[in-house]
Formats: sequence, structure tokens, C-alpha cells
Amino acid sequence: KEAGAGAVRVYDRAIDDLTRAHVEMTMALQTGIERNEFFLVYQAQNDVESRAVVGYEALVRWRHGERGLIPPSEFIPLAESTGFIHRLGDWVLKTAALEAAGWARPLSIAVNVAPAQLADIAFPLRVQQILNETGLDARRLELEITESGIIADQQKALAIIQQLKQLGVRIAMDDYGTGYSSLSMLQSFPFDKIKIDRSFVDAVAVSRPSAAIVRSTIILSHSLDIPVLAEGVETEEQMDFLRQEGCLCVQGYLFGKPQTAEQIAAVTGMAVSASAA
Ligand code: C2E
Ligand code: MG
Ligand code: MG
Ligand code: MG
Repeated sequence: KEAGAGAVRVYDRAIDDLTRAHVEMTMALQTGIERNEFFLVYQAQNDVESRAVVGYEALVRWRHGERGLIPPSEFIPLAESTGFIHRLGDWVLKTAALEAAGWARPLSIAVNVAPAQLADIAFPLRVQQILNETGLDARRLELEITESGIIADQQKALAIIQQLKQLGVRIAMDDYGTGYSSLSMLQSFPFDKIKIDRSFVDAVAVSRPSAAIVRSTIILSHSLDIPVLAEGVETEEQMDFLRQEGCLCVQGYLFGKPQTAEQIAAVTGMAVSASAA
């Protein structure tokens, strides 16, 4: 009994610690945005034939006061569960649009949109506002959404996606193939791009199932007349496979890790670094 009660106390304390860590992180996110601790890095998207950079994907980073650099996998889920993602997502979109608008070359800019943002009926208007404020041409903006951003209320998601497309922005399906019903998503939503998930691309050279999945996704994209991009390309072997199968666009460490706005300045022809207030 004694030991049991002790165990419960230890358990309670463990939960307490978890809750405290959770609350602390949530508060740190809040102060982090006020202290300008977030910044964007950009990963190139390359044409398969010419290898030229055709666009960039913006990826958020957090430089925490004490803990240093924290990857999105550690704070996006928390931001989503606390609702902070609305504020963070807004900052990301505004900053990416502002920085890309400053590039001399009109490369496309892809921005990840969280499920909660896509479920917000005010979102299309906000995108319009940001385009107006930053002067970014809507045709350069591509919003990346995942299946999880759509499944909750498909009708509503479709309405919002249609409004976004009316603004002239493009919609990409991110992490294609990892959801529950990727195929039915393609049937029901007007995507402008399919991004084949890294988990399939990873193994194209060594695994028959992965190769078959990537190959048939590329064929499918051609049949649907939707541009396809392979994510997470790391080797020339993977490039050879993708080229042979007719994939037109790639993104991955083979062409570079995500870089800061300053680092990509030479490619984008950006004169000075812009930063959102
Ligand atoms: P994602 O949108 O699928 O982004 C691609 C991720 O794969 C990025 O990780 C990128 O750095 C990584 N990656 C790209 N090429 C390679 C490669 O060749 N090898 C390997 N091993 N990895 C590669 P990152 O930046 O850590 O982002 C992870 C995820 O966090 C993103 O996946 C996205 O779902 C989410 N995320 C990042 N930034 C944002 C944002 O601003 N808003 C939202 N809502 N989510 C974001
Ligand atoms: Mg993405
Ligand atoms: Mg992805
Ligand atoms: Mg992802």
C-alpha cells in the first residue's frame, strides 16, 4: 500500500512535470514571437532537367533563448494543440511573402499551411491582405496543405481552397501518399501540385514497393495533368530514377539544405534582407 501510494505520487509528479513543461513551452512560444526568435529558412526546388532553382519552400525555425535551435517537429504540434499556430502561421505567411516579394527573380514561394489555418473561414481574406500589403504576385505563392488539413470538414475545406484559388494562389498537396485516402483527395480537390513524400523517395533505388509507388504517382500526375515534385532527394541514384520516370521537379539535400534569406540572396537576387515587423 505504502509503495503503491508512493508510485502514485511519482506518477502524479511525472504528470505535473509534463504539464509544467507543456505550459512553459506554450508561454515560450508566445514570448518567442514577441522577441523575434522565429525565422524562416528556404529550401530550393529544382527542375530535374536543367537543375535550375525554380522556387523555394519556406520552413520555420525557432531560436530559443536558452535551448537554442528547435526544429518544427518539436513545436508545430504544440502550437497546433494550443491554437498558437494561427498567430505563428500568420507570421510565417507574412514573412515569407515579404521576403519573396523582395527577390529580384520572381521565383515561386511555397508556404506550409496548418490544418487549423485551413479551417478558418477568415483565412482567404487574410491571404489577400498579405498579398496586398507585401506586393507579392499571387501567382508566385503556393500553399502546401496536407490531407490532415482537409479531413475534418471536407466541404468547408473545399470552399476555402476554392476561394484561395480565386485569389490566384496555387495549392500543393504535401506529403502525398502518407494519409489515409490520398487518391480520393486528388479526386475531390483541385490541387495544382503533388509533392511525393520523402518516405517513398528515400528508398526508390533499393525498394521495389517504393519505386512502384513513386513511379505510379508520377504516371498518375501526368494523367491528371498536375505537376509533381519529389521530396527529400539525397542521391544521384534517386535523381536518375526520377528523371527516367518523368518527374519534373525535385527538392532535397542533394541540391541543398534549407538556408536563410541571406544565404539564398545570390540566387534570388535579393538586394537587402527584408524582415516582417
Ligand atoms: P514538409 O513541409 O514536408 O517539409 C519538408 C521537410 O523535409 C523539412 O523539414 C525539410 O528540411 C526536410 N527535408 C528536405 N529535403 C530533405 C532531404 O533530402 N533529406 C531529409 N532527411 N530531409 C529533407 P523541417 O524543416 O524540419 O520541417 C518538418 C515539417 O514541419 C514540414 O514538413 C512541415 O510539415 C512542418 N513545417 C515546417 N515549417 C512549417 C510552417 O511554417 N508552418 C507549418 N504549419 N508547418 C511547418
Ligand atoms: Mg511542405
Ligand atoms: Mg512534405
Ligand atoms: Mg511533412
